[in-house]
Amino acid sequence: MTKKLLMGNEAMAFAALEAGVRVVAGYPGTPSSEIVETVARLRSSGTARGVHVEWSTNEKAALEVLFGASLAGARGLFTCKQMGLNVASDALMSLNYVSVRGGLVLVVADDPGPISSQTEQDTRRFAAFAKVPVLDPATPEQAYDMVKAAFELSERFHTPVIVRPTTRVDHASAFFELPTVTRARPVPEEGFERDVSKWVIFPRRAYEAHGEINERLPEIARVYATEEPFASFNPCGVDGIAGIDTAASFGIVACGISAAYAREALRIVAKRAAAADLELPAFRFMQIGTPYPFPEEPFATFAQGLSDVLVIEELDYVIEDELARWAGRTHASLSVHGKLTGEARDRGENDVDDIASRIERFLGLSGRLRLRRRAEAQDATVAAPAVPAEELPVRPPVLCPGCPHRGSFYAVKQALRGTPAVLCGDIGCYTLGNAKPLDAVDTCLCMGAGITMAQGLAVADPGKKAVAFVGDSTFFASGMTGLANAAYNGHDITVMVLDNATTAMTGSQPHPGTGFTLMGVQRPPLDIEAVLVANGFRHVYHANPLDKDASIVAVKAAVAFEGPSAVIFESPCVQLIKPDEPVVIDTEACTGCKKCITEIGCPAIGFNPAIEGPRSGSRGQSFIDPALCNGCDLCTQICPFGAIAFPATNAEEQQGDAAESPAEEGGQDA
Ligand code: SF4
Ligand code: SF4
Repeated sequence: MTKKLLMGNEAMAFAALEAGVRVVAGYPGTPSSEIVETVARLRSSGTARGVHVEWSTNEKAALEVLFGASLAGARGLFTCKQMGLNVASDALMSLNYVSVRGGLVLVVADDPGPISSQTEQDTRRFAAFAKVPVLDPATPEQAYDMVKAAFELSERFHTPVIVRPTTRVDHASAFFELPTVTRARPVPEEGFERDVSKWVIFPRRAYEAHGEINERLPEIARVYATEEPFASFNPCGVDGIAGIDTAASFGIVACGISAAYAREALRIVAKRAAAADLELPAFRFMQIGTPYPFPEEPFATFAQGLSDVLVIEELDYVIEDELARWAGRTHASLSVHGKLTGEARDRGENDVDDIASRIERFLGLSGRLRLRRRAEAQDATVAAPAVPAEELPVRPPVLCPGCPHRGSFYAVKQALRGTPAVLCGDIGCYTLGNAKPLDAVDTCLCMGAGITMAQGLAVADPGKKAVAFVGDSTFFASGMTGLANAAYNGHDITVMVLDNATTAMTGSQPHPGTGFTLMGVQRPPLDIEAVLVANGFRHVYHANPLDKDASIVAVKAAVAFEGPSAVIFESPCVQLIKPDEPVVIDTEACTGCKKCITEIGCPAIGFNPAIEGPRSGSRGQSFIDPALCNGCDLCTQICPFGAIAFPATNAEEQQGDAAESPAEEGGQDA
């Protein structure tokens, strides 16, 4: 065993490997991506033995791969972010009816905030909708324990099991005692055993299976209540606080990371009350780590004698609903407070300070604490000077300096000048094409939707050219169905495939177009043009987005065609390549017109009103930050005065100018 500091995502990967997982599959999505990457890294280092790991083309593909492995008796781990479960849901809803053989655990990372998502959907709700048990960790340590426990539960009840960490659990770190080597549990010798009555989901079988699910859920709730380690996932009390009283009438219930926040908040509240010489009202605290099926038994014990319960949870009011339902059904005189009563945040992330003030209000301490603070402030003989909080500048997300997408968007906008058009964006770095000055994204919905939405727009609003942007990874994940639809139905759209040879937004993961797999094998990459052609696109153009004029020509040719057409913009993500030397601005040539800034918005270009030159006068000039510029060469094609160039070119030109006009040189000397 060895002690290691691990991020929550790494810890869950280790837990699955220790549980003998044989197949790991997922699709990248923040905040979940590091789980699959950790398994791949441990596999290639020799720590994880006998495991197959892959980035599948999308979440549905990943879950179906794992379900196949499960039917052969292998344990499988699926990972995605919350919206990835929407993509995988088709498989999930049915496979729960079919039932699993080898343990199948889904780590679905929710993103309160949201920090990097389109929605704040709550996977606990999804789990209840799908009738799949869910575990909700408050810390990386609990996430680790829950993943291990989830495999046992899955196999015992033949059900998929969801573990749903949130961003802060995924990315927080803790120390773990870990084995130096893990081995996948061997698949049973017989492998897959044919049983049509079991593995083929006909309506009659679905009816029976639904009954089996309905029977096993209360049994799982009983396990949550009575058996370890599940019972310990629903602990009561907060270490180190006096005032937890069996005679209390106030209860506080928290779920997931909010339970960790609430414990800290309660310590703060206790300290504030003690400092103000106020008695902390008696209360009880409970964490619900197994939200579905709801563990009624331990909650009923906890709730005995309580008159009011405050629920602290992120995203939806899942536990609040459960408690209100329980109180109604059992005729308990319990008032449930939370999001629905306006006493907890109805969206976004919780935090310790906010929870502390809500608990103070709930316990009736706020007014008294406020009065005490006011009195103390009046008594203070020397008031500490207030230190104004330093406001941090707000930095909107932008495409990286040198990002090839900048050139693609610019070329499309230039080619469409004067043409009414709708620009349908998609999910990836290139959603940032919406920012000014590019301003090239009019819609964005979900993975692959740009291509299909463009088709609806082309039908309903034929006066505008419908253009769709899609990245290379999204193209394979969710774009291909839309292509076939466009060709089949003859929709007049142009698809701009922004091929930067990676899944850039989530950390540069490979995809079918790169040919690299997580097993360290290189396969022939899937060819985007061939896929387009196979899906009925006959007018396909290629362009280097960093070649402005050629890109504009390609876009013009593609949009001129009536029917499905495409441009494949090919240039690798700047994170994958060695940067070229930075360009420089010739202060003699710059006029200060700012076109280089207002046209493409590269963050490496700034403007300094103090720079003077013969052509800019006192207007100021642009400058290049050499620490940011990666020499992509796009701005050199934008400047109408040839003022931006690579240093060598500038020097050469200056030499050339000098050779051609000795009089000027003489003039300067004079
Ligand atoms: S060459 Fe120009 S556009 Fe490219 S990164 Fe440098 S400053 Fe930005
Ligand atoms: S570098 Fe060129 S585009 Fe930029 S401000 Fe100077 S003259 Fe204008």
